[in-house]
Amino acid sequence: MSVQFIISFDCEGKWGMLDREASIFDQRLSRKNLISCYRLIFDILKENQIKGVFAFVGAFTSKREYAIKWLEHLYRSSSAHRDWLRPVFEDKCKDHFMDQFMPELIEMTKSNNHQHEFTTHGFTHLPWDKMDDVSCKLELESILDWTKVNGLNCSTIIFPRNIVNHLNLLKDAGFLGYRRPPNLLFGNRKLNRSYSLFREFIPFFAHSDMARKSSGLIEIPGDFFLNWRSGLRRLVPSSITLNRLSWALRHAKKHNGIVHLWFHPHNLITGNNQVQLFRRAIEKIVKMRDKGQLEIITQHQLSVEKG
Ligand SMILES: [Zn+2]
Repeated sequence: MSVQFIISFDCEGKWGMLDREASIFDQRLSRKNLISCYRLIFDILKENQIKGVFAFVGAFTSKREYAIKWLEHLYRSSSAHRDWLRPVFEDKCKDHFMDQFMPELIEMTKSNNHQHEFTTHGFTHLPWDKMDDVSCKLELESILDWTKVNGLNCSTIIFPRNIVNHLNLLKDAGFLGYRRPPNLLFGNRKLNRSYSLFREFIPFFAHSDMARKSSGLIEIPGDFFLNWRSGLRRLVPSSITLNRLSWALRHAKKHNGIVHLWFHPHNLITGNNQVQLFRRAIEKIVKMRDKGQLEIITQHQLSVEKG
């Protein structure tokens, strides 16, 4: 049996960082830069005939008027949303969101012969542990309306910040699976951050995983984050990251495992030599695929297969 491989993209622009002021003011994340980085990703995937999983934040990929209508409704109706969305309505920040509505990304994704999978990354990117059931139902309502308006059928989710919660509500809404967070050792966020940086330097820590069932949904492995070459992570040589990927793929071959590579498209703008790293990772995947040793699948396919 060949290795199963998934590639997913957490697509959010500035919406993923509403609680980080420096990112809201980051001029590198302009509409122009974001569109060209998505175009580059679509081109690279098309060139290599790879289907990807695009996890979109609803507000980010909607027309401005439509998104604002929902955002105002959520802001008014739920205190969790009010906290999260504050910068969007605040005088000092709100102008920095005016260019963060990009419905054209949906068309760009569709234009690849419908091969890519559309999945949700929330409508607002509010982390799911911040919501009670009532707020979460509102968030889900906005997600489902976004799918309807865009003619999409999302059967899987990639949780904002990888924080898994409210699986029962997702199951009731007809979802089949979600991406499991990277395997971390500690209950403490700071320790986990140090551990995940540390393991970037140790190729043989990388391995593949199996899908599991949890609360009636399929837990899709999601352990391989493509190192974002920024801050301290910039110290990790690209050759080591690629070597980690090779270890994970070898492990998958031996154990019939799944390797799931993911990152944020905007990392290609802010990471050092990030595009080159992405291209080299893709080369590795294509080489194995062309030898018949690897099959590229989507989250939806895996969820149906294991469901
Ligand atoms: Zn995110």
